[in-house]
Amino acid sequence: MSTTSSNNVNGGIGSGLKQRTQEVLQNDFLRQAVAFTTDKLRTGRLSAAEQFGDWEEWRERGRVIREHTIAHLDYYLGQFADQVRSRGGHVHFCGTGEDAVQTFLRIAEEKQAKLVAKGKSMVSEEMHLNDRLKERGIDAIETDLGEYILQLAQETPSHLIIPAIHKNKSQIAELFTKEAGKKLPPETKELASFAKRKLRQFFLEAEIGLTGCNFGIAESGTVTLVSNEGNGRMVTTVPKTHVVVMGMERLVPTFEDVEVMLNLLARSATGQKLTTYTSFITGPRQEGDLDGPEELHVIILDNGRSAQLGDPQFQQVLHCIRCAACLNVCPVYRHVGGHTYGSVYSGPIGAVLTPLLQQDMKEAGTLAYASSLCGACYEACPVKIPLHDMLVYLRARKVKEGFTPSAERLGFKMFGKVFGNVKWYRMAGKAAYYGQKPLVRDGVIRKAPGPAAGWTKSRTFPAIPKQSFRDSWAELQRELQQDPASREAAASEDRGKDGVDR
Ligand code: SF4
Repeated sequence: MSTTSSNNVNGGIGSGLKQRTQEVLQNDFLRQAVAFTTDKLRTGRLSAAEQFGDWEEWRERGRVIREHTIAHLDYYLGQFADQVRSRGGHVHFCGTGEDAVQTFLRIAEEKQAKLVAKGKSMVSEEMHLNDRLKERGIDAIETDLGEYILQLAQETPSHLIIPAIHKNKSQIAELFTKEAGKKLPPETKELASFAKRKLRQFFLEAEIGLTGCNFGIAESGTVTLVSNEGNGRMVTTVPKTHVVVMGMERLVPTFEDVEVMLNLLARSATGQKLTTYTSFITGPRQEGDLDGPEELHVIILDNGRSAQLGDPQFQQVLHCIRCAACLNVCPVYRHVGGHTYGSVYSGPIGAVLTPLLQQDMKEAGTLAYASSLCGACYEACPVKIPLHDMLVYLRARKVKEGFTPSAERLGFKMFGKVFGNVKWYRMAGKAAYYGQKPLVRDGVIRKAPGPAAGWTKSRTFPAIPKQSFRDSWAELQRELQQDPASREAAASEDRGKDGVDR
């Protein structure tokens, strides 16, 4: 079996965005699958929030907890690390993805590991860990069902919590058939049972179990994991060594705080009250414990996160709890799915997080344009992150750093000048009216030329009227002043039946 999760993305993050979008818009199955599942998740979230009671108050509590934690992150990181160590665990702070990879490789070498059983971890995707382990002859097996499917397909996740959102049963059966060496039918039960049997052997053979961390609880050094599959429990209890990889922002101060966050996370992610499994792991196996690893390592990764601390425009991005609610409501994500973004994180949170983590406005900064700025992401976010504002700040940053085409910069400069001057604005309106004439049919433009062509690819554009609203208004005023009878008629029209002036 191949354990390489190759990046199935065409072109660079920004430069390939248009091509990937065009390709995916031809893929009806993918678009329907993504829309169907995100719809289900979205309605599940809404009904779970309604049943829960004062959802806005819970959101505000979540926001306050995240804001407090991130504002005092240095303190809580220190407390968390002290607590993990005091329970016998090891903590490794890593500045970059490469540091984290090297740290993991050192642990793997020490344990003479040949097989790593992985639970779901987006941070390990960020580190491209599977590929790096493969280079050293170490197999990393994804044991989350969705991730396992993608590993067989050599693809990356296309959704934060439903990584194989774009695959159907027949495609999965095809992948599993190849792996099993015998025909498997596209039946959920059969496919799940094949995966279960197959993965069980990996849990037993793996020297290391690797997981992410949904929340680290600073007061006790506890790693909290939520999952709807039993693989998380197997990965954290069967192999002798458990390695946790987590972003440095994934902390909450206390157990009381994690209660709020778990309530928000499960409801926002899947519409559940709680996920099927919620595990609290505090240190490695202690004397008298029936299970658990002999050794626990926690790798805490910065990888561009600390650059957002203290930044008034972007610090709040560190409040994210990776629930994916913003993906499920985003009109862009719902049409194009996750691979179109070309980055580990997709949807509105990916469009903000990717350029910030990679500190790359030229390529990754283009993702900020993959949004209609409708603000649905903010309304869905359980911790109230203003992603729509951040997308605008990112666009401004990209322009400021000179990474927009010079024609576009010139165009907007002229646009600003024309719209900032009444005389020019009027002249431009007149010029546009006469200039559009060869293109107008039945009051609309169906095929615009040049850079405007994109607008009319799937919709018509209303023709610019001969008279602007301002001109019509001025004409009306003139008529009213000249003709007292029509002024009286207009005034009485504006009066209600009760004779009260409106
Ligand atoms: S930005 Fe908000 S809605 Fe989006 S994944 Fe993060 S917490 Fe969830």
